[in-house]
Amino acid sequence: MPTARDPLADLRRIAYLLERAHEKTYRVRAFRGAAAVLGKLPEGELAARAKAGTLTDLAGVGDVTARCVVESLNGEEPVYLRRLEATAGQDLDEETRGLLEALRGDCHAHSDWSDGGSPIDEMALTAAGLGHEYLVLTDHSPRLTVARGLSAERLEEQLGVVADLNAGFAELGMSFRILTGIEVDILADGSLDQTDELLARLDVVVGSVHSNLKDEPEVMTRRMVTALANPHLDILGHCTGRLITGGRGTRPESRFDPAAVFAAAVEHDKAIEINSRPERLDPPKRLLRVALETGCRFSIDTDAHAPGQLDWLSNGCARAVACGVPAERIVNTLPAADLLAWAASHG
Ligand SMILES: [Zn+2]
Ligand SMILES: [Zn+2]
Repeated sequence: MPTARDPLADLRRIAYLLERAHEKTYRVRAFRGAAAVLGKLPEGELAARAKAGTLTDLAGVGDVTARCVVESLNGEEPVYLRRLEATAGQDLDEETRGLLEALRGDCHAHSDWSDGGSPIDEMALTAAGLGHEYLVLTDHSPRLTVARGLSAERLEEQLGVVADLNAGFAELGMSFRILTGIEVDILADGSLDQTDELLARLDVVVGSVHSNLKDEPEVMTRRMVTALANPHLDILGHCTGRLITGGRGTRPESRFDPAAVFAAAVEHDKAIEINSRPERLDPPKRLLRVALETGCRFSIDTDAHAPGQLDWLSNGCARAVACGVPAERIVNTLPAADLLAWAASHG
């Protein structure tokens, strides 16, 4: 008789692969939710229900998930999972794979403290599982209320949670750690939407424009240049704000003077983000080339809002390679200590 697999691990793996493939959230939730329900069953009940065919009597467990569980318990890789694994193969070219392997972490990711879907520890463990040395946790700032931006009090509380999680990782002998951070809104006047005191305490600050995206070019340029000159900001997130596909529809690029913005980034030694989200892929290659020629540093980030999305760095790597961005210009090829030293050099 073949040995049973872990059905819950299989369900979570399916959720992860669906997420990575940018599938609809409800499909991902069906599997992760079922795993949570089944994980709470008393010893032996899972197997008994699988045998009796009563798994689907449980709220949150549908036909497809039940079938996966039965297959796992029979020691077979669920057909659903096998199909996903087969199509998830990343056929990256050699250069893109090389750059991906050179990245040591991710500087932009959200948890369920703001608009992400998963707790901090789950995001962190997924990042560690991908081989990252660090993950910068960058939940949103207060004014972005639609994304449940963190007040100063909640951010302060989050810093304590991150410190505890890092202590736990160290105890387990993991070299991985969460770096503290924020995706802070760049406000209409170019100021940043969090207290100076807190911004100064964070390891890495990503600053992004999320409002008044249709500002006149002169206004937007001044706004971004002001933010880049702010010593707290380290990385300029998704600089054009464009959306090219996906459930939120499309949105044109914000208009600004790229020469002035990228020159300000060089002057203050800040990084321009290469955002890997499939619906963003920001900046467009045309601007990425201008930033490269201007002498900018870059950060290739996932902007993940769920664990499976932490695997999207290859999207950004492919674009960096296509535009000839060398690894030494990319700040997240740096070990954590050097990344922190670079961020700290801004004040
Ligand atoms: Zn953003
Ligand atoms: Zn973000």
